[in-house]
Amino acid sequence: MTGTAVSTEPDRTDGWDVDVVVVGAGNAALVAALTAHESGARVLVLEAAPHAERGGNSRFSGGIFRCVHDGLESLLPLVTDESRQWAEHVQVDPYPATRYRDELDRATDGRSEPGLADRLVDDSFATVRWMAEHGVRWELTVGKLIDPERIPAGERYSLPPGGALRSANEGVGLVEDLFRIVEAADIEVWYDAPVVDLVMSGSTCQGVTVRRPDGDIEVRGVVVLAAGGFEANPELRQRWLGPGWDLVKVRGTRFNMGTVLVAALDAGAQPTGHWGGCHAVPLDAAAPAVGELRLTDRMSRYSYPYALLLNRAGERFVDEGEDEVWLTYAKTGTAVRAQDKAWAFQLFDAKTTHLLEPRYSTGTPLTADDLPTLAGLLGVDPQALVDTVETFNAACPDGDFDPFRTDGLRAAPPGQPAKSNWAQRIDTPPYVAYPVTCGITFTYGGLKIDDSGRVLDVAGRVMPGLHATGEITGGFFFHNYPAGAGLTRGAVFGRLAGQGAAAESLARR
Ligand SMILES: Cc1cc2nc3c(=O)[nH]c(=O)nc-3n(C[C@H](O)[C@H](O)[C@H](O)COP(=O)(O)OP(=O)(O)OC[C@H]3O[C@@H](n4cnc5c(N)ncnc54)[C@H](O)[C@@H]3O)c2cc1C
Repeated sequence: MTGTAVSTEPDRTDGWDVDVVVVGAGNAALVAALTAHESGARVLVLEAAPHAERGGNSRFSGGIFRCVHDGLESLLPLVTDESRQWAEHVQVDPYPATRYRDELDRATDGRSEPGLADRLVDDSFATVRWMAEHGVRWELTVGKLIDPERIPAGERYSLPPGGALRSANEGVGLVEDLFRIVEAADIEVWYDAPVVDLVMSGSTCQGVTVRRPDGDIEVRGVVVLAAGGFEANPELRQRWLGPGWDLVKVRGTRFNMGTVLVAALDAGAQPTGHWGGCHAVPLDAAAPAVGELRLTDRMSRYSYPYALLLNRAGERFVDEGEDEVWLTYAKTGTAVRAQDKAWAFQLFDAKTTHLLEPRYSTGTPLTADDLPTLAGLLGVDPQALVDTVETFNAACPDGDFDPFRTDGLRAAPPGQPAKSNWAQRIDTPPYVAYPVTCGITFTYGGLKIDDSGRVLDVAGRVMPGLHATGEITGGFFFHNYPAGAGLTRGAVFGRLAGQGAAAESLARR
């Protein structure tokens, strides 16, 4: 089988030899494949999904890449002409490495492994620029959190500096661009090609086993694992994340079943990171059980800092305004999961409904002119809801509400969590409720790699022939996560793993 980049049926059954085998076909894998190819290696990409569903979680994503930069002027040369037109309407503060590192440390309780965290931060901008040079298109994140049409004329819309840049047309555009580049480079991709095992000799990886309907095939070469986490597998979620996680909704691809992760652990790779933790967000309660490509990430619900988040008992259970939303959303799903039936609702009043993310249009809100009626529609005890809101309202300070930055409007109602920013009274009908549940995005526990993307064994020794990048790796994120660091992690370590794998394979020739 030669040349074609869209192969699905290998025509040999006795095995294949290539220089570098990349397992998976999301952002991390495709960056690794390109880098290995450019380093002179013959590369084969193995994708478990069929062609129509290729691209993993990366394709479902919002495409946000958290990277160090010097402010709007430094991002403009990267973005499309269309996106550059927003330059006069937005403001983006510089995002230095110190702030990136600080936000990563804050989100992860300082647990992110220092060597990995430094690499992620320090190589972030160079990696985005490298992707741009290779043909990945970029844009400002205008329109994600706030509908720009709603910004008053003459006002500049401030983008969160760590979340200001995304691939053009989000994850769909990212995967389209990466595949266009991979295919132009004539890198071969097998679809419907799930890897079920590693071919090992001692602690050296010699290749992988691919499952085909008529039998397994061995593909030999230096291996880069980029097959995602275990978030789509209810049995592994229950086993590692704990009781109740088997039932949560999955935001992304159905193919990240953890098969390769388990195979690598069985082969002696070292587990690291937060195995009981995951990225999980407030998701529309009516979202499908597993991500659908027609919706990608449009069922997510991140405008809760302007709302109250309440459970079935009519009680608040988080600080909705703890920080900018990109630093809290990834743990808020876990808080929702802990509520009765993993269910909650976001309560807005007429003062803030214009601030809802445009994607709320995919939801079906419940609306009423008074809280008891709304409670009835939601199946919540009316008196409990009224009591909660009245207690909250009584604690709200006077002051200027500013939706675009942490405004310090803090309420500390007795018997409730504080609301550290954006604490405005909920007092202006109509009242609008969006029911939400927990949606898992990806898992935090994974394979231990060094800061070059080489997989380490349980004794901390490099496993020859085995590299990894992306969601399948651990040690980066714990408890929480700053938005956009997942794609950047995959690309930064994709380049390192791809380079390392190519060098290792060429040295063997
Ligand atoms: C709705 C949503 C929105 C998101 N938004 C953002 C965002 O804006 N910014 C951000 O940084 N992160 C975001 N994320 C997280 C981000 O998508 C992931 O962190 C990132 O895509 C992981 O990349 P990856 O290449 O490691 O994994 P994936 O992109 O998931 O790729 C894994 C690949 O491995 C394949 N695979 C799985 N098992 C096997 C097997 N046994 N054999 C062969 N192949 C296999 C899969 O089919 C897939 O192609 C979002 C995620 C979701 C679901």
